[in-house]
Amino acid sequence: TYEETLQQRVRLHHSVEDAKGNIRVIVRMRPVVPNDASQPQHIKHLEDGALEVDEARNAVFLSTPTTGMKRFEFYSVYGPAQDSVAQQGVLFEEQVRPLLKSVLDGTNVAVMAYGPTGSGKTFTILGKTESGQLSGLLPQSVEFLLDTLMAPSTPQTPLSSNSETRLQVVESCTMTMVEVYMDQVYDILGQLHGALESAAKVDVRQGSDTVSLNGVTEVPVSRWDDAVRYLQEGLRLRKTHRTLKNLESSRSHLIVSLHLVVQATGGATYRSKLVFVDLAGSERVSKSLSQGERLKEAQHINKSLSALGDVVHALSTTPRPAYIPYRNSRLTQLLFDAIGGNAKTLLITCICPHLPQQHNMSETQSTLQFASRAKNVRNALVQRAHSTPNTSIDSSHVEGDQQPL
Ligand code: ADP
Ligand code: MG
Repeated sequence: TYEETLQQRVRLHHSVEDAKGNIRVIVRMRPVVPNDASQPQHIKHLEDGALEVDEARNAVFLSTPTTGMKRFEFYSVYGPAQDSVAQQGVLFEEQVRPLLKSVLDGTNVAVMAYGPTGSGKTFTILGKTESGQLSGLLPQSVEFLLDTLMAPSTPQTPLSSNSETRLQVVESCTMTMVEVYMDQVYDILGQLHGALESAAKVDVRQGSDTVSLNGVTEVPVSRWDDAVRYLQEGLRLRKTHRTLKNLESSRSHLIVSLHLVVQATGGATYRSKLVFVDLAGSERVSKSLSQGERLKEAQHINKSLSALGDVVHALSTTPRPAYIPYRNSRLTQLLFDAIGGNAKTLLITCICPHLPQQHNMSETQSTLQFASRAKNVRNALVQRAHSTPNTSIDSSHVEGDQQPL
């Protein structure tokens, strides 16, 4: 049948992308939320087009009076869900859990959320629900890694025919949490441990093939509740500001890293890094009527995101240029391995439903264009060899990071 052919095509498409090691790009459109209706009405009312998602074909259709109808295809597309928390679970199962298997095999993984302010990036990564629980991909991943694999009392058997054989045990897991604000990196966990904000600035150390943070606070997390407490308390320190666009808009890029040591059966030890990136909003400055300090923040956000765009552009050019401009911003420096480097990367592109009174189509369009371009970025993935427990986490890093595979 047609549906079967379609499914086959999608499966083939997926396995081809897997083999190529490209950044995997998916799209999530959030539902209309109560806050949408209360947006200020002085933003011009424009019937500026149409926007549709087609989950079956993994496509997004956008039409504007100036561009006509455009079709964007992605690895997966998720439309507005009636039950958002349930969709958080679906996203985890379909997109993140398979990547966590790679993490357990010693591969670095990065999960990034990109999109304009209010499109659901923070919801996707962290996902605070009304009851204060965290339902996002990060807490779900931590739960999977720690409670499933670390608990010493968890029986290793029995295994039903369709459950996975548990071959690995997470031996240790540590977490760092930083934000990039005004092109400075701030150690959030350091501040939770009493450091003043002014003392919490950390330097990025860029090696020839690695990047690390000088003296960043790294806390061991062995229980899910501990990790979630750090996340919740850390989030409170994050620099947010009320703009007209969104009640709580993040003014910084948040980067949470989990460093894992995994013991496989047979005695091999793997080290890997799982990084979650919640980017600041990609909308243009004038839209949120920013002024003064807010304008400066917005300019920094725009500058770092356009540096990100430049890196993605350079990496998606064939042949790949020898020079990739990672050093143009702290953000791109920090994403050195996540984008084009030694990691499997999932880019979640968040978009808003079509809200004519907010004239958000040009933002949606530029977001989808960025996402389309990112599909062409091929990471220089190095399958991690067995390493001894004393090997530094970054030492078996990128090889030939600027080269296509
Ligand atoms: P961003 O981080 O992109 O600025 P947020 O994640 O803060 O956006 O989302 C903006 C608002 O929309 C929040 O109130 C959030 O709870 C809500 N929201 C975002 N995504 C969803 C979703 N998938 N389902 C339900 N509500 C959502
Ligand atoms: Mg946010």
